[in-house]
Amino acid sequence: MTSLRPRIAILGIHLESNAFAPVTTEADFRASCYYEGDAMLAEAAKPAPAMPAEIPGFIEAMDTGGPWQPVPIVITATEPGGAADHAFIQCTLERMRELLAAAGPLDAVYVSNHGAMISTEDSDPDGALYALARAAIGPERPVIATVDLHANVSQRMVDCADLIISYRTNPHVDRRERGYEAGILLRRLLAGERFERTFIHLPIAPPTVTLLTARGAYADMIEEGQRHIAPDLPVVSIVGGFAFADAPEVGISILTYGRGEKPKRLALDLARFAWKERDRFKVKLTSLDDALAQALAAGRSGDKCVVCLADVADNPGGGGRGNTTDILERVLSARVANALLGNFVDPNAAARCHAAGVGARLQVILNEGRADDHAHEVPVELEVLALSDGAVAGRRGIYRGRTALMGPSAAVRVGGLTLVICSRRIQCADPAFFEHLGIDIAAFASLIVKSRGHFRSGFDEYYPDAKILEVDARGLTSPLLERFDWKALPRPVWPLDERTTWTPPRIEDL
Ligand SMILES: [Zn+2]
Repeated sequence: MTSLRPRIAILGIHLESNAFAPVTTEADFRASCYYEGDAMLAEAAKPAPAMPAEIPGFIEAMDTGGPWQPVPIVITATEPGGAADHAFIQCTLERMRELLAAAGPLDAVYVSNHGAMISTEDSDPDGALYALARAAIGPERPVIATVDLHANVSQRMVDCADLIISYRTNPHVDRRERGYEAGILLRRLLAGERFERTFIHLPIAPPTVTLLTARGAYADMIEEGQRHIAPDLPVVSIVGGFAFADAPEVGISILTYGRGEKPKRLALDLARFAWKERDRFKVKLTSLDDALAQALAAGRSGDKCVVCLADVADNPGGGGRGNTTDILERVLSARVANALLGNFVDPNAAARCHAAGVGARLQVILNEGRADDHAHEVPVELEVLALSDGAVAGRRGIYRGRTALMGPSAAVRVGGLTLVICSRRIQCADPAFFEHLGIDIAAFASLIVKSRGHFRSGFDEYYPDAKILEVDARGLTSPLLERFDWKALPRPVWPLDERTTWTPPRIEDL
């Protein structure tokens, strides 16, 4: 039986891997979030912790549930990027093993991970993380986990965890709540309850823009799943997956945890629903020509907050580099008036602006020396409007209550365009990214964001969904999956391959 003051290990690695992006290095992790031991608890206790929000949520729930002793191991996380450097993952797992072994007797492990990581040598390092947690605690005591709804769930993850709880909101505004939920449910596991797992994986790799939870097939599935939550069916995780990981585990996963036949029947019903509604996972984008015409008209109208162009193909929150120029070049050449764009990631340009100072006018080549197919060198004459160190307290949406690190940043004006240039790759998802530089979003006719979807919960005050265009430009996160050279993605897969088929499992086989 569990001790009166259960000792719970907490650990995790968060990375969403885009196989087409450059390798994510140890330096990337360490510059974003890497805490070990008591430093984890100190950071988690801050008003705006620079760590995944699940962990403070979990700690809060455990605190309210009675005495316990947190045993902080390691948490590391970074912005979505390419495959993780395998050596770093190996070292981190080894360090976790050492700390777990030195921790003494444990009653449970909480794993906080994203779930769509690949390394340079392994398609399922998240599975290795879960296996490590299970090995540390043994077969009887609980392992509980939280994952992003973009996780690619592997059989190994399912086998090694008693419960996997996924986010239910996209934009992900429920991360803290899901950590809290894990803390509440862990008390039941500690009291000896166990639940059967049902896991169905579907050959559907939804483009990320089809996984919003305000509406759509995916939203319907989540709502239906939650309708059945009951004491004997406490968790329904409907996980959309992340195609760009280009891994065998990609796809929609349905996980139910409970007792009896009901959870199995529900999983099967949800899987059948996803398959029947699969046409709703196809993507429709607005052409660059149409989007530009609307931004031009908005600028001429004199009206404010008319249209928002989402550069969904260059989302740093999905591995994009934040520096593609398809939209930027068209906006400049067409002389679109009164437009605002953020964030353009260019550390060299940001440094030039900082050296020149507020009020300076200077010639800068954006992307100088780092151009590629999607990100051209763009010479501009700009005026520096404001400067910052880029440490921003988020106020709305996914960064609310967290500190976002943009690195040295500048607000600049180029003709009719006001542009935020920053030094670190980060998705433009919070109005504070502009406001901390003195920019009034409400004063502009159009807004261009490098973000796939998380901007929606930040900028909805100015741009409700009806004013948003998802623009077809080029980049590492284009929702048009046929543009990528897939290597490990299981084929056929919907919606890439029309010939994809799926036969529902028999309930007795679940
Ligand atoms: Zn996600």
